[in-house]
Amino acid sequence: MADFDYDLFVIGAGSGGVRASRIAASHGARVAVAEEHRVGGTCVIRGCVPKKLLVYGAHFAEDLHDAQRFGWNTAGATFNWSVLRDNVAAEVNRLEGLYGQTLGNNKVEIFCERAVVTGPNSVQLTSGRNITAAHILIATGAWPSVPEIPGAGHGITSNEVFSLPELPKRAVIVKLVTHGDRILRGYDEEIVDKLVDLNRQKGIDIRFHFGIQSVTKQDDGTLLIEGNNGETIETDLLLWAIGRTPHTIGLGLEAVGVDLGKDGSVQVGDDNRTNIPSIYAVGDVTNRVQLTPIAIREGHAFADSVFGNNPRTVNYDCIPTAVFSNPPIASVGLTEAEARAQFGDIKVYKSDFRAMKNVLADRNERALYKMIVAGPHEQVVGLHLIGPDSGEILQAAAIAVKAKLTKQDFDDTVALHPSMSEELVLMK
Ligand SMILES: Cc1cc2nc3c(=O)[nH]c(=O)nc-3n(C[C@H](O)[C@H](O)[C@H](O)COP(=O)(O)OP(=O)(O)OC[C@H]3O[C@@H](n4cnc5c(N)ncnc54)[C@H](O)[C@@H]3O)c2cc1C
Repeated sequence: MADFDYDLFVIGAGSGGVRASRIAASHGARVAVAEEHRVGGTCVIRGCVPKKLLVYGAHFAEDLHDAQRFGWNTAGATFNWSVLRDNVAAEVNRLEGLYGQTLGNNKVEIFCERAVVTGPNSVQLTSGRNITAAHILIATGAWPSVPEIPGAGHGITSNEVFSLPELPKRAVIVKLVTHGDRILRGYDEEIVDKLVDLNRQKGIDIRFHFGIQSVTKQDDGTLLIEGNNGETIETDLLLWAIGRTPHTIGLGLEAVGVDLGKDGSVQVGDDNRTNIPSIYAVGDVTNRVQLTPIAIREGHAFADSVFGNNPRTVNYDCIPTAVFSNPPIASVGLTEAEARAQFGDIKVYKSDFRAMKNVLADRNERALYKMIVAGPHEQVVGLHLIGPDSGEILQAAAIAVKAKLTKQDFDDTVALHPSMSEELVLMK
């Protein structure tokens, strides 16, 4: 590999690219990474991290209201968006610094510019510099999709949402549904229905069968959204949340002959390798599962396989996921519908309860836990929760589902009382 400038050149310093760079370097490879925006990528800069911090911030609205039932006088409490926005931005800056430091400590060279692929073993930087590498890793992530309709540019995407100058009074967050009567496809329908009900009770206007036809900016700066059902909505802000497209446009991959999917995703095998033997890809750009822990695992497995003499693949079975809505949803394994299709005869255990805190707060918001079991031993094949802290609760329970434990194993575990998670071992 000595004839090349580097053993590995990584394009994109996000979740997958940073992990792959660091691990490859720790195995002794000479590594460089190019990043056209900010080190840390989507998760750190404009995804998981700022999103979760804003979710915490938003929840104080209900917490402060409920606090009065717990004896606290919170009258006069007000919200200042710029304080939250700037504190979140400061935390993101801190994490960005740590990511850069980690790469530096591992002797990974960082080029703060865009890179494009020019051959099986070569890339070109925006500055014009040409670099050769024995292996190239595409870890360029995905980019928010915006529909091709008149006025779409008046909307923003998740890229811009974290730095709004002011908090809009009204916002429309659009999920375009084609024949649509559902949101959050892939999650258990009953759990999603509960979220829709609870959010409507909180005053959120959720509309189905509303395909957006056009967006017009009015003289007073507000937006007029026209639906294909004849309805219109007036709003101050429109956020497109219709999915993310693999980030491969202009990357030079077609010219080099790398196979791409219809959506532009880089096609790879289980070993993260493309049809060009020296070019690999991990993370969102492959459009397998668009989640940070998956991008990290793929990057790690790639580096161990190619530079650590330890070939291994990622296991995509039983990936726990969450929707950080209010209340949050968390899920692992098969939904009820999927389990029925796969096993036919299944059993569903449920617990529909009001969290103790919500009872004292006089908040009429119930949680729902669902356990899907299959087979003669009642193996737990799916667990779906909606309720306070469900993401925190599900991560631990996901270990049991991954380990193929049974309903009896859950029943045999003594409840931790009083807690919401005890419902998992008390289901009827
Ligand atoms: C709003 C939002 C919230 C999310 N919340 C969660 C969550 O709660 N949990 C979760 O698991 N996942 C979440 N995700 C998904 C998660 O952020 C991604 O799955 C993850 O970041 C993918 O990592 P990656 O390495 O594939 O790509 P990225 O992290 O996107 O990194 C790709 C990097 O490549 C750079 N790049 C692209 N092209 C070039 C080029 N030609 N030259 C140089 N650099 C280039 C980009 O600037 C970017 O920094 C969220 C995503 C969004 C948008």
